[in-house]
Amino acid sequence: MFSKILIANRGEIAVRIMRTAKEMGIGTVAVYSDADRKALHVLSADEAVYIGPSNPLESYLDADKIIDAAKVTKAQAIHPGYGFLSENAQFAEKTAANGLTFIGPKGDVMARLGDKIEARKLAQQSGVPTVPGRIVAETDEKELFEFCEQAGYPVLIKAAAGGGGKGMRVVRKPDELLSAARQASNEALGAFGNGAIFIEKYLERPRHVEIQVLADHHGNVVHLFERECSIQRRHQKIIEEAPCPVMDPELRERMGRAAVDLVRDAGYENAGTVEFLLDEDRNFYFLEVNTRLQVEHPITEAITGLDLVKLQLEIASGAKLPFKQKDLTLRGHAFECRIYAENPEENFMPAPGKIMFSQHPEGPGVRMDSGVYAGFTVPVQYDPILAKLVTSAQDRNAAIDRMIRALKETVVLGAGTSLEYMADVLNSQEFRDGNTHTGFLDEHFPGWTASHEGDDLALIGFAARRLLEARGLQTFQPEESPTDEPLPWASLDAGELAEQAGYTGAIDAFEG
Ligand code: ADP
Repeated sequence: MFSKILIANRGEIAVRIMRTAKEMGIGTVAVYSDADRKALHVLSADEAVYIGPSNPLESYLDADKIIDAAKVTKAQAIHPGYGFLSENAQFAEKTAANGLTFIGPKGDVMARLGDKIEARKLAQQSGVPTVPGRIVAETDEKELFEFCEQAGYPVLIKAAAGGGGKGMRVVRKPDELLSAARQASNEALGAFGNGAIFIEKYLERPRHVEIQVLADHHGNVVHLFERECSIQRRHQKIIEEAPCPVMDPELRERMGRAAVDLVRDAGYENAGTVEFLLDEDRNFYFLEVNTRLQVEHPITEAITGLDLVKLQLEIASGAKLPFKQKDLTLRGHAFECRIYAENPEENFMPAPGKIMFSQHPEGPGVRMDSGVYAGFTVPVQYDPILAKLVTSAQDRNAAIDRMIRALKETVVLGAGTSLEYMADVLNSQEFRDGNTHTGFLDEHFPGWTASHEGDDLALIGFAARRLLEARGLQTFQPEESPTDEPLPWASLDAGELAEQAGYTGAIDAFEG
C-alpha cells in the first residue's frame, strides 16, 4: 500500500479522499491555488503545495505542476477526484510516465471510454443496448433525415467530447437539423477541441440509472448495484438515490451484467460508473461511462457498507478485490442532496460568498461531506458545490423523512443554497410515489419560490453560536488558518444582523 498520496483536487471530494487515507495510515498532500489558501482541503491535509493562480488552467488543470508537487513531496500516487483532470487521459499517462500511480484506469482505456462515440461503439460490441442514433460524420444527409423522422422529433445532438450537461442540443423540427448540427459541431470544436457529434432519439420521461463498477488488475469485475439520478437541473444531478425505486432483481441483474461486460471488454480498471437511461417500458440504454469516482458515490457506500475510496486505493496498489459479486448485498435506502452555492429562484445561478455561519445536521443515518467552513470565502472560479448531505434508513420513505429533517437542520449563512427547494421536492407526493424522471423538476417545480420559513431558524442558529461564544463555551475553530488572521465572522454581531433582518423577536425568544 502507498505511504503517501497527492489529491489533485479541492473542496469536499479532496477532504473526503483524505479522510479514508488517514484511516488507512496514508499521508496526504493537498494542492491549492491562490483562492484556496485557506480552503478546508488545505487545512485537512498533512502537507500542502501551492500550485498557482486561482484560474484553474494555471493550477488545478496544470498537469505538470501537479506532477511536480507529487515528486517534491515524494507522494507515490495521485488521486484525481472528479472534475478537473480526473478524466484527462494524457494526465493519467503522464502520471504513470513519471513513475507515479494514477488512481484510476489506464490512459488509453480512459481515452476510448471518454469519447461518447467510441464508448457507444464499445457498448454495441459488448451487446449493451444504446439509444438509437447516428454518427453524423458516418451518415449521409438523406439517411440522417430518415433516422430523425423514424425516431420522431425532438431529437438530441450530442458532442463526442461533451460532459457535465454541456454539448447537447435539442432539435425540434427537420428544417433545423442541418444548421443545428453545424452549430453544435462548431461549438464542440471550440469548447472541447473535438467537433465530432452524433444524433440520438430523445427519450420521453426517462430515468437516469447508473451502475457502479469496480475492476481490479487481476480480471475481477463486480458491480455495486445502481443509483437513480433523475432529479436534475440543466441536465445536471442535484438529488440522487440508491437503490432505484422501480428496480427489481431481474432488471438489476441484466443492467449490472451489461455494465460489467462493457468495462471488462474495455480493459477497465478501478472504480467507474456506467450510465443508462431507463424508459417507461423498462428498456435500458447505454449513455456513457464515467471513468472516475462519482459525486454521488456515498449513497452506494451507504447501501453496501463499503468505502469506495479505500477500494480504489487497494485496487491501484495492485490488490485483488476482496469479494465476489455473490458476496455483495444491498441494505436499506439512501439519498444524497448536493448543496451548491446557487439560487433556485434565479435558474440555479451560482451564488457563492463568504460563509458567515454553518451548522451541519447530525443524528442517526446522516452523513455530511463538506468542503467549506464558517469564515471561508467560496471562490467564484470553481464548481460551487459546498457539501453533500447523505441520509440512509431502512426504507425509501424513512430515508426521505430523514433527509427532510436533516435539510432543515442545515444552516448556511452567506451563500445562496437550494436547501429549502430540495426539501420541497422530497416532500412532494410525486417524489414520494417514486414517479421520477429526468424532466421531473421542469415538470413539477417551474418558477419555485422560497417561503423563507427557514430564515428564522438560520438566524437562531447563528445567534446561538454567538451566545455560546459570549458565555465562553468552546466552539469549533478550524485547526489553524495558514495566515493566522482572525476569522471574518468573529467580528460580526448577531444582534445587529438580527435587527437589520427584523428578527429581534427570534433572538429575544432564544435568549429568554
Ligand atoms: P453529460 O456527459 O453531459 O452528463 P449524458 O449523456 O450523461 O451527458 O446525459 C446527461 C443527461 O442528459 C441525462 O441524465 C439525461 O437527463 C439527458 N439525456 C441524455 N441523453 C438523452 C436522451 N437520448 N434522451 C433524453 N434525455 C437524455
